[in-house]
Amino acid sequence: MVKLIILGSSNAIPDIDHENTHMVIVGNTRSVLIDCVSNPIVRLQQAGVDTDSITDMILTHFHPDHVSGVPLLLMNMWLMGRREPLSIHGLEHTLDRMENLMSAYSWGNWPGFFPVAFHRLPGQELTPVLDCDDFHILASPVRHLIPAIGLRVEDSGTKKTLAYSCDTEPCEEVTHLASGADVLIHEAAGRLLGHSSAAQAGETARQAEVGALYLIHYPTGRYASGDPVAEAREQFPGPVRLAEDFMEIEF
Ligand SMILES: [Zn+2]
Repeated sequence: MVKLIILGSSNAIPDIDHENTHMVIVGNTRSVLIDCVSNPIVRLQQAGVDTDSITDMILTHFHPDHVSGVPLLLMNMWLMGRREPLSIHGLEHTLDRMENLMSAYSWGNWPGFFPVAFHRLPGQELTPVLDCDDFHILASPVRHLIPAIGLRVEDSGTKKTLAYSCDTEPCEEVTHLASGADVLIHEAAGRLLGHSSAAQAGETARQAEVGALYLIHYPTGRYASGDPVAEAREQFPGPVRLAEDFMEIEF
């Protein structure tokens, strides 16, 4: 059984109960961090996930609220004695910038640093990202302010599927990506350029005929407004929930 743990559910401005959106997929042989903000070491500890078990990282796009934790996580892993390689997957746009950022930290001079492999994904729909005994992950480009990818994860055993929209306006690519999925985790930052409202997330969930919808990347704290779950329910007849930090989603 593959599970996904929400490590953060907020949009770009976090609050005390909602870290920026990122999550981890936990399998038996591989565990994948999806985006990396703040200091994931602490979030992983709180979620009961051993940092050493992380084999892969997928970076959806190069906005600070999705990737700012990478340099500190890599440094922490190194200081904790990691020897195992780490694979980082993302679009060329994302990974070129990440390599430049790490160069600014002179990571080439960190003695005994563990191997990091960058896997650049083509910006095509349903591109395979990784395959293992636990799950298969595919990526599709979505419509954001900069190049970004959404994900589709299939449990190799149960064949159940989960899709994650990432930051995006409503678009065909997200509907294709989520088509027939058991679970869709969709952003609900608001009806803004490069983003979606909760109602638009509900529309996409209905069009993609998914089993259940979880809203994520929503305004929190003093920026929260309205009732996003109710707004999505007006568009989507299935179950709708607000993703919360440390929520576990089995699929
Ligand atoms: Zn973004």
